[in-house]
Amino acid sequence: MLTSLLEGGVLRAEPEGRSVLQLSELQREVVSCRRCPRLVEWRERVAREKRAAYSDETYWGRPVPGFGDPEAKVVILGLAPAAHGANRTGRYFTGDRSGDFLFAALHRAGFADKPVSRTIEDGARLSGLWISAAVRCAPPQNRPTPQERDACLPYAARELELLEAQVVVCLGAFAWDAALRIHGIRPKPKFCHGVEAAAGDATLLGCYHPSQQNTFTGVLAPEMLDAVLLRARELAAQR
Ligand code: SF4
Repeated sequence: MLTSLLEGGVLRAEPEGRSVLQLSELQREVVSCRRCPRLVEWRERVAREKRAAYSDETYWGRPVPGFGDPEAKVVILGLAPAAHGANRTGRYFTGDRSGDFLFAALHRAGFADKPVSRTIEDGARLSGLWISAAVRCAPPQNRPTPQERDACLPYAARELELLEAQVVVCLGAFAWDAALRIHGIRPKPKFCHGVEAAAGDATLLGCYHPSQQNTFTGVLAPEMLDAVLLRARELAAQR
């Protein structure tokens, strides 16, 4: 499955280049990481026990690497894999309601060639966009500890550097804080939807997370996500 994940999720035959190879190496490193004992135990237990609706599926149950267009200048940074979403399918925002909401918006904005993201084998392609997360293993209650956050953050930092990301769309306060830490920004601007912060040559953009809790209650409406993605496009085009 690792091969199909890397081929289907990220690596393309072209463009070849140093950063593409380095991204590939980073992905392989992430996928084999066991640095956080609590998260290793949790991700593997969830994968063994499964949710009843997915009882006949083989869960990924490992760290989830970033995926998308290696030439992307816009990066979406989430919190962590969902236990029965990315931890099951092996790709961020794939196979759950958050993914349905996000991919519909990415398609409207021209970042995704399909409005849905159900399995890693669906052939979905991103253009000008990379999707990743601050923490690469599914955490209990979606709450990594500060130690787990700090252990995993170097992966996101290396990824942003390799991509030379110009716009980082941070989904939720945890991702916002992670991006501020990566860029060493102090004092930390408060998170809210649509907030912007300069980070060297890049811009950080805050966006409410497309969790069911936010989308079912209207805290995050489709047009709000559309506006952030449009702004991300504008910022990237200005560079
Ligand atoms: Fe490794 Fe990150 Fe998973 Fe911790 S959360 S085990 S650092 S991939």
